[in-house]
Amino acid sequence: MSDAAEEVKFSLKVMVNKQKTKVLFAEADSDFADVLLSFLTLPLGTIVRIMYKHYGDKAPIIGSLTTLYNGLSNLDSVYFWTESGKQMLLNPRNSSGTECRKLKLNVDDTQPTKYFTCEDWNCGYPRYSNIGMYYGTALCACGKTLKREINVDEFFQANDTLGAELMNVTGFNEVMDLLKGSLSFLTPLTDIILNKGQIDSAIPCHEPGISFDNIEKESMSDAKKMTLKVMVQKSTNKLMFAQAEEDFVDFLFSLLTIPLGGVEALLGSNTSVKCIDNLHRSLANINDDKYLKTKYIETMLLKPKPPLGYVSKNQILPLTEEIAPFLYRCAGNFRDQDYLSTLDKRGSFGPQVSCVKSPKGEGNYVNGARMFMVTDDLTVTPLCMSSSLSILNGLEILLSDVKELKLHIGLEEALSILKASLTSTSALTIGLINPLLKKELKLEN
Ligand SMILES: [Zn+2]
Repeated sequence: MSDAAEEVKFSLKVMVNKQKTKVLFAEADSDFADVLLSFLTLPLGTIVRIMYKHYGDKAPIIGSLTTLYNGLSNLDSVYFWTESGKQMLLNPRNSSGTECRKLKLNVDDTQPTKYFTCEDWNCGYPRYSNIGMYYGTALCACGKTLKREINVDEFFQANDTLGAELMNVTGFNEVMDLLKGSLSFLTPLTDIILNKGQIDSAIPCHEPGISFDNIEKESMSDAKKMTLKVMVQKSTNKLMFAQAEEDFVDFLFSLLTIPLGGVEALLGSNTSVKCIDNLHRSLANINDDKYLKTKYIETMLLKPKPPLGYVSKNQILPLTEEIAPFLYRCAGNFRDQDYLSTLDKRGSFGPQVSCVKSPKGEGNYVNGARMFMVTDDLTVTPLCMSSSLSILNGLEILLSDVKELKLHIGLEEALSILKASLTSTSALTIGLINPLLKKELKLEN
């Protein structure tokens, strides 16, 4: 075993070649395997966020997702129905958060879900149907705001011995390196264990093509279409920018809330990010109950869903949300002792929480009054004539070299943009324009 591997507190036995230049395979304990598999539960936006948090200025650029995230972060709150809607996108919740917090090491530091009830102590409307997930955004039936935090009975968590383990800090850097490496390199174990992170980074290569094998037939015919006006440089066929309405921007921002495993499921383990594809594919191929504790864990990793209240009505991709948490409203001796419980303790306790109000506005995040400009790397800004002209000037492109196209974005285009966004900083050229040109060429021949 190499010295570097001994620094990692997980017991990981690695077999290296004679020249000590390549890790051939590793024997990992289940703790390590769990942490590796938990990568699949991370929403794309969380990956960008924790990379920034851990690596600072040296954070890797992940395709167009980093610029998509930065654009979202810089976009003024007035463009969203609510400030919390923007925060939901910047800090997407992990729908397997409870399970991940039990792991020996959890890379996702997103806070556990909090619940809020009516600010008015004397409100007569039922508590079980007026619960919000975010402070002060959704409204109670009485019209007042849901902003008084209500405790959640910890029975479920308290029953779990694993949650008591201390986080292994020595292993954290290596696990973050492994996550970073899995997204950007072809041989993350070699790079991290033998080369100590000093790698000649091979940026994953985008492989064109979308498979519909994993998409249910109904969602293919149901999918709505969005319109997008794009400016393309004629001489290079490169997209310069797109003019978009709120539906397309909503779709783009929502990509940040999809868990990595959910992306794998949508793209049939064929995302061009080889290591994650392999992880997902190998998990799908393990059909042994001995390895995967429950069917629930298997679906949680193979096809994780965005949390409740996250999927925008503008989402073209066939995504379903997690079901509502099984919470029951329980009355304490005094009103301020009311709480929610994961246990159904009928009798002196109240009914099941029937819905949890989400702070998205009209079923989506982005406010519809304005037009937006989207650049090739998915940076979103409010549209103004001067900014589009200054882009052309900045690139020293003649107006005669520019053509305007009106495109319809359906399921195929949406999947293609998602795939390109993982590996390329030109997500729209690679995901939209190139497949279009290919089709045109086919038609001509
Ligand atoms: Zn109320």
